[in-house]
Amino acid sequence: KLDQKIEHNEYQLTKSISENINTTLAKLQDADKSRDEFVANVSHELKTPITSIRVLADSLMSMENVPNEMYAEFMQDISDEIDREAKIIDDLLSLVKLDKSANTLVTEQVDINQLIKQILKRLRPIAQKRDIEMTFETIRDVSADVDETKLSLAINNLIENAIKYNKDGGFVKVSIDADHKFFYIKVKDSGDGIAPEYRDLIFERFYRIDKARSRQTGGTGLGLAITRNVVHLHDGIIKVSGKEGEGTTFTVRIPLNHVKRRDKK
Ligand code: ADP
Repeated sequence: KLDQKIEHNEYQLTKSISENINTTLAKLQDADKSRDEFVANVSHELKTPITSIRVLADSLMSMENVPNEMYAEFMQDISDEIDREAKIIDDLLSLVKLDKSANTLVTEQVDINQLIKQILKRLRPIAQKRDIEMTFETIRDVSADVDETKLSLAINNLIENAIKYNKDGGFVKVSIDADHKFFYIKVKDSGDGIAPEYRDLIFERFYRIDKARSRQTGGTGLGLAITRNVVHLHDGIIKVSGKEGEGTTFTVRIPLNHVKRRDKK
């Protein structure tokens, strides 16, 4: 009887060990797969502008007498592609830095109203070009313990998107609220909205709903990944809502006081 019991226990133990090994392996494979996908995406995204530049330069060089107008047009296209490459590299560096400095948020008491006002001031000329009205609503002074540079980058991405994916003559409404524990930033726009099936995907690195349009608007697909990263580093959450065809609202909720933790990822 005892033998049987020992055998059974051994069997249980081996079973649970092998199950553990299997789940660990599966996790490692997942991490491997997502890293491979990321590297493949990075290579693809970095190569695209370079391929365009190559084609444009080659065709200019192969022509004998290039009309001035055509020359200017091709050069403009080359210059645009270089800007695009630079933007992708900038965004990638931001993401990598966020990963590396995960434990080192440099937080201090920041006037959140002021932070938003500065971003709006910076983006106003882009909005004005498309006749988009930007408004800011705040109930009271909100001061919070945040990493100013990183949070500014995160909110900038949301407001820039609200302009980019809007219609001419539309609006962007930014508002701030707070309770005793959290502050809330809302960015609402009058664009086409985001269908429910895309609401998780848009936060993935390089994910863009409409690749052609996003390319036209200078998108890299990294903006929201950066934003979510920053919000999570602050122990916050980010949500997207809005009815299809009636614009989008992004809501960020971040604790007023940052709790430093050593094991934070
Ligand atoms: P991108 O650089 O392409 O703007 P993001 O990561 O910032 O990349 O956004 C990912 C995708 O989510 C965008 O390509 C766009 O399709 C969609 N998106 C983001 N913000 C909005 C918005 N305010 N309204 C509609 N679609 C949006």
